[in-house]
Amino acid sequence: MSSEHFEVVVVGSGAGGGVIAGELAARGRSVLLLEAGGHHTAAEFERWESRAMAQLWWPMRFAFPRSGEGAPIPMVTGRCVGGTTTINTKVALRASQPELDRWYDATGLVNERGEPFGVDDLAPYYDRVERYLGVRERNDWDWRGCVRTVKGGFEAIGASLHPVHAYTDENCMQCGSCLQGCPTNAGKSTLNTYIHREWMRGTLALRADTTVRRVVIEGGEATGVEIETAGGELETIGADAVVVACGSLGSPHLLARSGVTNDRVGRNLGFHPAHFVFGLFDEPQDAHMVAPITSHCLDHATIDQGGFVIEAVTVQDPIGFAIALCDESGPMWGQPLVDATRQYRHWVGLLNMATDDNNGRVITQEDGSARYESDFQPDELARADAATAFSRRVLEAAGAKRVLWSSPASTHTQGTCAMGADPSRSVVDGNGQSHEVDRLYVGDSSLFPRTLSVNPSLTIMALATRLADHLDANVSGQLRGARREMVA
Ligand SMILES: Cc1cc2nc3c(=O)[nH]c(=O)nc-3n(C[C@H](O)[C@H](O)[C@H](O)COP(=O)(O)OP(=O)(O)OC[C@H]3O[C@@H](n4cnc5c(N)ncnc54)[C@H](O)[C@@H]3O)c2cc1C
Ligand code: SF4
Repeated sequence: MSSEHFEVVVVGSGAGGGVIAGELAARGRSVLLLEAGGHHTAAEFERWESRAMAQLWWPMRFAFPRSGEGAPIPMVTGRCVGGTTTINTKVALRASQPELDRWYDATGLVNERGEPFGVDDLAPYYDRVERYLGVRERNDWDWRGCVRTVKGGFEAIGASLHPVHAYTDENCMQCGSCLQGCPTNAGKSTLNTYIHREWMRGTLALRADTTVRRVVIEGGEATGVEIETAGGELETIGADAVVVACGSLGSPHLLARSGVTNDRVGRNLGFHPAHFVFGLFDEPQDAHMVAPITSHCLDHATIDQGGFVIEAVTVQDPIGFAIALCDESGPMWGQPLVDATRQYRHWVGLLNMATDDNNGRVITQEDGSARYESDFQPDELARADAATAFSRRVLEAAGAKRVLWSSPASTHTQGTCAMGADPSRSVVDGNGQSHEVDRLYVGDSSLFPRTLSVNPSLTIMALATRLADHLDANVSGQLRGARREMVA
């Protein structure tokens, strides 16, 4: 039993938890940030695919089809300080009003004035995050030859390709190694921004290699967390408020392990399922030596327009590429796979992401382990197929002499602890506080009532900033500890 007590304990240091902890620490709140993964920095990051997968990624988790038929979908997430932002590609996009309308429809989410939650409610928080991270538009310099190769294909079929906005600065050397951690710190994860700024100033307490086993709930309110240290010891740490930000796969599991009984916990898991479509070109393209995503096509982003977004261009590093390749016969193997991978420098990949309907689920089983389920319906599969057909047309129009693709994967899981006004359709209220347990908050991608068509991290960070504002305002007097003296 530890005698430590903090105003706020934040569990998980990714897009949500990293921002909440950094924001609150900067305002003088006493904050402890707990992270299951290790604390690794740019000095250690290098392009060593298998090492990064072991050191910075969660061991791969799979969602199995509820029907028992079809392939499981692998879900990639980070397990280190900075969470998935340490290994992501830094694309920064805002949600549109039609998407937030879907949130209102799903859970009755409203703003402080009781109106449907909309873009105006998020705009000041988006502004703040973009300013803080230095979000910029990728420019011509970022568009290497392989991007220009496919641009011709988009134009030839009458589609548009635009530069993305990203939280990367002018030190981005286009090395293409974002999924192994950015070696130049050009990519702005929560690790090298919100967290390090406060941790280095001594204003934020950070404990890596520390897994939270459960939130301690007494008399209907959260009073702290039980942790397992790197050495395997169990300790309890007290808190005025606990924010769970373990990602959409981890947060529902932690709530369930802690005894939160809401039937909606773990439901409405969205995958934003992604496929690669690869085109083979005569000239070397070196699509692995470019920032993985510099441009995108949003022509079909809303459900009415088709419900898919295409990102360009990228190709996984060799291990990921070889295990993903599929042709008409399914996953490739043997000599055809060897032949295809020998032409690695000639392949250019487009990444398709389809909007899904959040039919997946995180289930906490009797033995305490988690099981993940998908349940894609015909409409959702049709969107993914349309995205693949579109990408094939682009690549062929750009001059690809052969097209291959990957099986689906998810890098954008979202939902599972939805926020909303209606407790029968959501887990937390509009401020992120549990409907059942006082002083217990959720602050990450699991808040999303419906999958966004665009990359989720900027919206997660905007919601996290909003939650930090709410906690710091302390309207209900939950934070009882004295404010820490600010270190100059
Ligand atoms: C390869 C890849 C590329 C991506 N590219 C983009 C992009 O370009 N743009 C974009 O917007 N999004 C991108 N994303 C998605 C984005 O990074 C995530 O949606 C976002 O980081 C999720 O934030 P989160 O806070 O919900 O979870 P995470 O960032 O995953 O953080 C959760 C943290 O909680 C920790 N944790 C879990 N359980 C416990 C526990 N019990 N105790 C302590 N700690 C725990 C985890 O280790 C993890 O560090 C990408 C994702 C991947 C995998
Ligand atoms: S491509 Fe740019 S942002 Fe990505 S790892 Fe390399 S330097 Fe960092």
